[in-house]
Amino acid sequence: LNPSNENYSPQELDVEKKLRPLAFDDFTGQDQVLENLQVFVQAANLRSEALDHTLFHGPPGLGKTTLAHILANELEVGIKVTSGPVLDKPGDLAGLLTNLEDRDVLFIDEIHRLSPIVEEYLYSAMEDYKIDIMIESGPNARTVQINLNPFTLVGATTRSGLLTSPMRARFGIQSRLEYYKTDLLTTIIQRSAFILNVPISMEAAIEIAGRSRGTPRIANALLRRVRDFAQIKGNGSIDIKIAKFALEALNVDAHGLDEMDNKILSTIIDKFKGGPVGITTIATAVSESPETIEEVYEPFLIQQGFIMRTPRGREVTELAYKHLGKIKGNIQGG
Ligand code: ADP
Repeated sequence: LNPSNENYSPQELDVEKKLRPLAFDDFTGQDQVLENLQVFVQAANLRSEALDHTLFHGPPGLGKTTLAHILANELEVGIKVTSGPVLDKPGDLAGLLTNLEDRDVLFIDEIHRLSPIVEEYLYSAMEDYKIDIMIESGPNARTVQINLNPFTLVGATTRSGLLTSPMRARFGIQSRLEYYKTDLLTTIIQRSAFILNVPISMEAAIEIAGRSRGTPRIANALLRRVRDFAQIKGNGSIDIKIAKFALEALNVDAHGLDEMDNKILSTIIDKFKGGPVGITTIATAVSESPETIEEVYEPFLIQQGFIMRTPRGREVTELAYKHLGKIKGNIQGG
């Protein structure tokens, strides 16, 4: 199970949209973030101003895109959606910016992947709602400055460490999304089950929540798979028995850890005697970048108590040995 939706089919993306909360009241968890946003939105609405540019960072599947849409809804404005890798020329960005209406939201996903020239181009748009555009070509080519409608840029990134500091400094509001506790994921699963029109017991919702890696996107994806089992192998409703059967058949890890999580833990145990070991060394051993390990994988492993940060590096805990069925002191592989 992948916390990102990069490989989702069009049908799956449709279901994801259907399950997306549309208003603050509909959104579960991230209380502190939400409380602040509500104040900022109310103030912006009161003054009829555009909301300050807002940056959401945090691991995939925690609600960054959802919040961007909620902001537009709560500001009662339109939203245009794009992403860092898609915008490869300043011209693409100019087209989007000049089409924004007063106070609209422009959502740029994966904003850390903007090319440097597009990023630079964005600066003056963000700062004083002005851009330079090139008109005509050849000897007549010249740039003219045009005014944009005041707008709100909402950026999302899983890798805030890769954002340049001038970019980061242009966001007046910055919020970090955290992994969700099981009780919140349980609520999210119950809500999704209701929308999908499938009965689910409390116990079953808790079971699925506990295996969702703290991530609503995974919770929803598991719910849909378990629903398939309930409809084909059961009577259509999800009880604890069918939930356990399905999760077993889907080979979902008891804690919802994914392949890379488990690889990181077993590498620290097998190759580095359980640590402490530096993040760069771990990254090389599992063929991932240190930033991705640090921003995408490690926070969950720490939150769940599988890894500890020490001054000398990362160390796995007893729980990690237990989870992987390994015995401390045994060195395998090499
Ligand atoms: P991100 O942009 O951070 O990768 P999304 O906003 O696309 O994540 O959310 C992924 C899925 O999880 C969506 O279907 C969304 O409806 C659901 N989701 C995320 N956060 C919540 C939440 N707090 N409450 C209910 N559903 C949520």
